Order: sequence, then structure tokens, then C-alpha cells
Amino acid sequence: MLPLPAARTVADLRRTVAGWRREGLTVGFVPTMGALHEGHISLVRLALARADRVVASIFINPTQFGPNEDLAAYPRDEAGDAARLADAGCHLLFAPSVAEMYPPGVATVVTVSGVSEPLDGQARPGHFAGVATIVAKLLNQARPDVAVFGEKDYQQLQVIRRMAADLDLGVEILGAPTARAQDGLALSSRNAYLTDDERRRAPELAAALTEAVSNLRAGAEVAGVEARAVGRLRAAGFGPVDYVEVRDAADLSRLGPGRLLPGRSARILAAAWLGRARLIDNMAA
Ligand code: AMP
Repeated sequence: MLPLPAARTVADLRRTVAGWRREGLTVGFVPTMGALHEGHISLVRLALARADRVVASIFINPTQFGPNEDLAAYPRDEAGDAARLADAGCHLLFAPSVAEMYPPGVATVVTVSGVSEPLDGQARPGHFAGVATIVAKLLNQARPDVAVFGEKDYQQLQVIRRMAADLDLGVEILGAPTARAQDGLALSSRNAYLTDDERRRAPELAAALTEAVSNLRAGAEVAGVEARAVGRLRAAGFGPVDYVEVRDAADLSRLGPGRLLPGRSARILAAAWLGRARLIDNMAA
């Protein structure tokens, strides 16, 4: 396996992409924060299916972490990540420094209203402004034809879709289905924070959402379904439960408290703590 070429600066990234463009090749982009798992690799595979050349970025973006969040503890393994990306057929790793992405004097922040306000927007103030700003920068730096994001972070995907449309970024945003462990737990770099006992209890999050979806489809009322899922999580040792909510699948506006109208495009989204890991998950409802 050949080592994966790496760009550390925006100029290096642009030089490589410009070379591909001269050859008439299309470009896909997969932004990540590293500590890569099969979920990230599935995004790379989707990008490879849609573009001739694929760039994956690894950048642990400080502006999307709150002051009391896990920026310092966030898992890092660039050598392992580069090997996984090369193995998947990725063509370039973009791994800039914080100083490269946020040079002194930087003063512009991208905020997306509406879709970024509820759910994680409430639980993690400033998080989506950090996400939208870094993704806008990355997409401007690479200027890809397509960029792939996971449905695992469903609200993030909808925020990025809105931003890309509003700012005329000229890139197609693709969503990829959530990759899960055999027992249903959504793969996440943060699962590394779970103890063995917590890891055994963690699949309850996906199980509670699966049950909720089947009850909604059977005509149960939204408020009762949400409350039941919260109760299941608490009983399994999760806490605090930040939210379990049924929302419009596109703009994330509130649905319920009664039954979902037939044909309504809905999503159930949840965030809950298990020990020192904050787990999130969501499903089509
Ligand atoms: P992260 O490194 O956690 O910031 O994630 C980088 C990208 O990978 C985001 O678009 C995530 O939504 C996506 N991703 C993370 N976990 C999964 C998963 N289990 N399945 C699919 N995509 C994922």
C-alpha cells in the first residue's frame, strides 16, 4: 500500500486539486476530525463512487467545542487514520494546523439560523457556528464537486445543506447512512470514552429509537413515544438525557404532540450521556 500524500497548508491542497482539475477530474471531499472508524470510511467509499479523486480532511476544529467540552481529550491517531484512508483508496489527506485554519485576525463566523437552533444548538451553544464556519472554509479551500457527511450527525448534515444552498457554494452535499456496530450502536470516535460496562449498555440508545419508530408508524402519539424513549434510556443508566424529539426531517421544526400525519417526513433524534460520553443517534420516523 502506498503512503497517502498529505497536504498541510491550503496552498498545498489547492495545488493538488488544481492539478486534478487540469486533467479534467472531478473531486470529492470528506471532512472529519480523525480517529477514523468504518463510518468515516463508508463516506470515503461513497465519495469515491461519485468523484474521480477524493480528499479527506482531519482537523479537530477548536471552535466547535464548548469551553467545558472534550477538545483536549478528543482521540487522535493520524498515522492510523492515514493508513485506513490509503487502504480505502482515498487520494489525499488534508491535515492543516490550527494556525493554518485560524490565522491571527480571523473575524468571520458563519451562523445558520433556524435549523441549527434546537436540539444540539440548545445543548451545545456555538457548536453549529463552529461547524458551519469550518465547513465553509474547507469547501472554499478544496472547491470539490461533492462533499459527503454522515446522517449520524443528522442536524449537522441539515445545517450544512442549508449553508451550502444559502451561500451558493456550488457543491453537492451527500448524506451517508449511519454505520453501526453489530449490536446497533452508531459508530463514533467518542465511543472510545465508554467503559466496558457502559459499552454493554450503549446499544439501548439505538434500541429505544427503533422501538420509537415502530410505535410512531403504528400510530402512537409523538409525546408519549418521546417520553417512553427517555424512560428507557434513564432505566439503562443514561443521564442526563439532553433530548429525544421527533422533528421534521428537513427543517427540524417540532412535530407532535399528537400522531404523525401519514406521509409526513419525520426524524427522531436523541442525545444522552453515558458516563463521560455524550452519545447521539437518530432515525427516519
Ligand atoms: P467526525 O469525525 O465525528 O466529525 O465525523 C466526520 C464525518 O463522519 C461526519 O460527516 C459524520 O457525520 C460522519 N460519521 C461519523 N460517524 C459516522 C457513522 N457511524 N456513520 C456514518 N457517518 C459517520
